[in-house]
Amino acid sequence: MNLSEVKLMPNLREYFLLKTAALMRYPPTKSWIEAGFHRAPEHPDRIMDKEASAYEREAYQMLKEIIKATPLDGSHEYIKHSIVEDAGRYAAEFNKGLLEVLFKDEAETPPVKKIILKNVFDTRATFDLTNINVDWEKIKKNFIQCLNEFLRATSQDDTARLAWHVLYSAYELAWINFGGPSSPADTRAPTYTIFDHNYATATLINWLAAGGEGLKGFLVLIDLAGIHPFISASRKLRDLWASSFLVSALAWGIIWPFIEKLGPDVLLLPTARFNPFYYHSLQKLLTDFKLNDVAEKLGNFTRELGFYDPEWGCPRYAVMPATVTLILPDVKILKEAGLLNQMSNERNRRDLIKEFIKRRYIEIWGNLIKKIEEIEVNGALKKLIEQLRKDIEFFDIRKVPPLSIRVKVAEISGKTIVIDCFHVKVDEERDLYDRAMRLLGKIHRREAFLKVEPYVKLNLTELTEEIYREDSAFGYPSKSERGYDYCTVCGSLPATVILPSDKEYQKTFGLDAKEAGELKILFSPGERLCPYCFIKRLISIKPNILEVLVGKCELDVSFPSISDIATFEFKAQSIKKALEDQSYREKLIKAVVKGIIKRRKRPLWKGQRMLLGEIERSGLKEEEKAVLKEFVLVEAESLYMTAEKRLSEEWIELWRRAEIEEPRCYYAIIKADGDGIGRLLTEGDLTELAIPDVRRYLVDTYEGELKELVSKVMEGDLKRATKIAENLGVMEAESKVKEFGAALRNVVESGKIILSPTFHIAMSRALMMTALRDVRMVENENGVVIYAGGDDLLAVVPLVNALRLIRDTRKSFNVGDERPIGFFKQKDFYLVPTLVSIGRSYVLYEAHYMYPLYAVIEDAERRLEEEAKKSLWSISSEELKKDTLTIVYSPRGGAKTIHLPLKTSKDAHILNELA
Ligand SMILES: [Zn+2]
Repeated sequence: MNLSEVKLMPNLREYFLLKTAALMRYPPTKSWIEAGFHRAPEHPDRIMDKEASAYEREAYQMLKEIIKATPLDGSHEYIKHSIVEDAGRYAAEFNKGLLEVLFKDEAETPPVKKIILKNVFDTRATFDLTNINVDWEKIKKNFIQCLNEFLRATSQDDTARLAWHVLYSAYELAWINFGGPSSPADTRAPTYTIFDHNYATATLINWLAAGGEGLKGFLVLIDLAGIHPFISASRKLRDLWASSFLVSALAWGIIWPFIEKLGPDVLLLPTARFNPFYYHSLQKLLTDFKLNDVAEKLGNFTRELGFYDPEWGCPRYAVMPATVTLILPDVKILKEAGLLNQMSNERNRRDLIKEFIKRRYIEIWGNLIKKIEEIEVNGALKKLIEQLRKDIEFFDIRKVPPLSIRVKVAEISGKTIVIDCFHVKVDEERDLYDRAMRLLGKIHRREAFLKVEPYVKLNLTELTEEIYREDSAFGYPSKSERGYDYCTVCGSLPATVILPSDKEYQKTFGLDAKEAGELKILFSPGERLCPYCFIKRLISIKPNILEVLVGKCELDVSFPSISDIATFEFKAQSIKKALEDQSYREKLIKAVVKGIIKRRKRPLWKGQRMLLGEIERSGLKEEEKAVLKEFVLVEAESLYMTAEKRLSEEWIELWRRAEIEEPRCYYAIIKADGDGIGRLLTEGDLTELAIPDVRRYLVDTYEGELKELVSKVMEGDLKRATKIAENLGVMEAESKVKEFGAALRNVVESGKIILSPTFHIAMSRALMMTALRDVRMVENENGVVIYAGGDDLLAVVPLVNALRLIRDTRKSFNVGDERPIGFFKQKDFYLVPTLVSIGRSYVLYEAHYMYPLYAVIEDAERRLEEEAKKSLWSISSEELKKDTLTIVYSPRGGAKTIHLPLKTSKDAHILNELA
């Protein structure tokens, strides 16, 4: 039977079997087999035609064992199916695509006997894996056994969908876990790893699985607009965390039905690989199917490799960006999967998808509001929530999410791309992805100028009219003195909750001093909140309400205040002294006991968790430990920073005697953003990369005789190039070399490479790894992450650690784990290429804890865009753009700034000068 002749029906089991085969198209051992270091099995099965190459036999055999007696059984028979082969070809990276001019089939080119992995963002960053010492048989055995065991457990789901989720997530993690090395997908053009290539191939199945002629499907870009003002509208650190996390959770909630029903491979940017939000939702999916054992084992992988710790009950930081790109299959598969079913059939297919996404957004927002209305609490908070319920009704908040959504859908069909009114025809099907991506990026950039204020949909006129007509005043529990007040958090909407002044606080709520003290931590005296900012505050108090967006959320954490971060050094010194010195300890304990003691949640902030650990490990009495722990957790403002915002005399005396430095009033906001990432991502633009020149870059993306050939073509020595091509077995070498030369020249002249799914998958994985490493580094420097998207970062950090954090995150961004430069390292030999040649600009903002947070963030954002990213340096006759650190010192009123270049030459990342 020749399978490539089978016409596929859009049956979802087959859809998942095809993806499975695609994921194993190249076995992880491919390069070693080709180079002759590893032997593939010798038994062509009925399905393997005689021409199956050694690595194809290996892929077949490995997959057969992995999926044996599981819902994916049979997928090995698709390994050489034309759909899988086409997917592999369309997924392929630009440098491999160029080779198609010379060779019809990659099997025609001789493999290189050296296994070198190169970083695609700068091909000078390489790692030679040729002589690594690994026990292949052991790794393979463990890998196969583990995956088979996981997959067997999923047999209750007969569509194979659940098994696909498990395979997708466990495939790479298990390989890393058992010590498997990474390797190039193709030793001749070794710029991408086998895993990147395979994941991209599986993703491309979405455009081929419907069968019939050519590619069919959609490229969808979803963007929540206006996130910067939404996040910076914050008065407390908890507001910042909640706004930013809400954006991530909303983005995740919108796309989840696609991921759940079609598989995580539909998520192109950001990737689902290493994505804590995906691992979290998968945990929920597995426990829903009662696969607790698989959930636990997968959880161990994600925890140990540092991607997601299920113990927290939710991802803790906003690592999901607000812009997401999906690859979706044809409508008949979408419907088969249970998506779009309730939509009218009359509409065009792109509108159908748009409509579905927009509806989903309103629906999940509505669910969140419902959840908020159901919060069960007592006391003063209960009264405030009752007021919120009325406001939700009055303003119609259930239907108005705080961010507007933009959805762009490109339809791919045959050789045509349709977006909005654009119809584009391409010559070759392999150009579809590139063209569709560019168009989508272009339209999206243009639309970014259209600002839509979501709040215009709110029922504000009625409110103001009512106030005007009835001469009444708005606000609860205190009334506005002027009809209505603006929210003190966002400054743009009328405040419906107005907190009483410090003097009136206790009386208004009928609380005793202790209760009032606790409430003041959450709602400061005199604060005025609009319903949206009140909702943000509630999310920080009860993060578990986010379960309606992320599946489940057992996150129950306490937040530090900005002043806690500013004074961290002081607290750490105090604890150190208290653990060593009994007399200081006694005085400290006496001073703390006068403060507030209450039941505490687990701190989100690692700084506090670390000090708690030190206290716990000390040999002190339990009572003493308890008070010292309280000292760590209690908010600075309710202890040594008094209500009058001065340091208390009593405390000053205590520190002076113990020779502990006074608490600082300044903290640091760090904001960073990758330079030129957008253009690289949507246009393949190499010109902003710190690479010597595009010519050299192109030559270096190849290895062996091909490198020689490309080099000769670039030099214009076509005679020599033709000779090499002839030796490599190229037919009609002269004309093909000419054609090849023209294609290479195109890249050199435009400075742009062809965009491929593999390129995006490699890039989004590098971004995800960077984000997770940034999170870890911020935590290690006792800071709190507001968001980390890989290219961008926003964090609040104690001042003394800020510069070190910038140095380390900047270095990690390019250099990775240093040995070898340009790669992140997992276990011994699993390497993930970093964004080695991309710059990253920073703002370090030193701000007083009393200075309004929103103003600091907004100014930091402005300076990043207008100063750091606009800078131009001239260093030893080289001109360097961007990649600058702007340090802003802002005492109350007025600011001083300095700018520093983060690299001193274009090659600095390679020379490791950042060290
Ligand atoms: Zn507000």
